[in-house]
Amino acid sequence: MKKTGSATLSPSHNILQELADICERADVEVHGVPFGLVATTAFGNVLFEVHATTLRFTLTSETENQCLQLIPAVVSALKHCSCVDLDSLAWDGRLNTNRPLLNFRKVVVEEIQMLSETMKRIWFSAEDLAVYATELHLRLLIPKSQTHDVEWPFYDASGSIKNPGTDNPVQMRAYTVRELDVPRKRLAIDFYLHHCQGVGSDFAHNAKSGDTLGISGPGGGGIPTAQKLILAGDETALPAILRILEARRAAPPLHVFLLLGDQADEALIPQEFRGHITCHFRAKEQSASWEQKVLDQAFQMAEAYSWVAGEKTAMRRIRKALREQGRASDTYCIAGYWK
Ligand SMILES: Cc1cc2nc3c(=O)[nH]c(=O)nc-3n(C[C@H](O)[C@H](O)[C@H](O)COP(=O)(O)OP(=O)(O)OC[C@H]3O[C@@H](n4cnc5c(N)ncnc54)[C@H](O)[C@@H]3O)c2cc1C
Repeated sequence: MKKTGSATLSPSHNILQELADICERADVEVHGVPFGLVATTAFGNVLFEVHATTLRFTLTSETENQCLQLIPAVVSALKHCSCVDLDSLAWDGRLNTNRPLLNFRKVVVEEIQMLSETMKRIWFSAEDLAVYATELHLRLLIPKSQTHDVEWPFYDASGSIKNPGTDNPVQMRAYTVRELDVPRKRLAIDFYLHHCQGVGSDFAHNAKSGDTLGISGPGGGGIPTAQKLILAGDETALPAILRILEARRAAPPLHVFLLLGDQADEALIPQEFRGHITCHFRAKEQSASWEQKVLDQAFQMAEAYSWVAGEKTAMRRIRKALREQGRASDTYCIAGYWK
């Protein structure tokens, strides 16, 4: 699926450098091409081309859903560029706007389980969840208050996400679908209860049956299919890693490196997978030695695909090290899950 658009630039612009910096901060890979650059994201590629004072952008995604998620990301990037006239931003053809976010569903808290002192599973009920089976992630829409009416975010005329709720704003955070039961109309998310305040973990701390939230998605990648796979991540990536392991039971053994708080967290790993997983503990060692183990394995198995997720600066170091080793960007997925 392709979608094109354009915007006018101020006469003395430095748009390609600005876009490259924005992509770098967002951990999006870019490379230069004649007259422009290409950004490679989990939802597809964006080619930005400059002709005099016009910026043209061409989004190429495998599916329409991915393209719909790429559009607000491009608009958001352009809003951060000082030299783009946002009033001139135009998409070719029809843009399906002023409508709810992709596959928006209201979800209601149904059941809460403490998996450990630091991990809470929350089951949500919702209609029509089959579409969420295709990928790992979703966006959770969390209203500030459960006692006020909620105005849910939507795509506005420019294709970006508009959050209309002034009395009861809705915040968005990315999470992993840990369990999905389409016939019983429910899904589970495992929340890591980190010790800082944040709307996601605050919601998880205080959640009660009947709380109503929203979801949108799915997005950002599916179960990796490579024969040889290296998986690594911290507590926030554990739900995704366990889903990948469950989906690949019949595939060859993998190399899995987890960074957890302490030994008590090992109880979160089902017995059947413990033999394949090496655990590192923050209490004993720094994140740096876990990062080094992941890189050592990746360098040793040049033919393997590396899937790694965790704290953003750690992910940047890992990505940089792989790049410096000459790894092609389609041989790894390194995702900053939190900062
Ligand atoms: C694609 C994707 C999938 C994810 N899946 C999951 C999942 O299944 N389960 C899950 O628990 N998380 C998951 N995460 C991570 C989660 O989105 C972040 O941890 C998010 O920051 C939590 O939001 P918050 O509102 O609690 O904190 P924020 O408002 O984002 O941050 C508030 C404060 O908390 C700190 N903070 C945030 N996260 C952590 C952390 N993990 N450890 C220590 N301090 C932290 C921040 O540094 C900041 O100081 C996922 C992230 C992505 C991108």
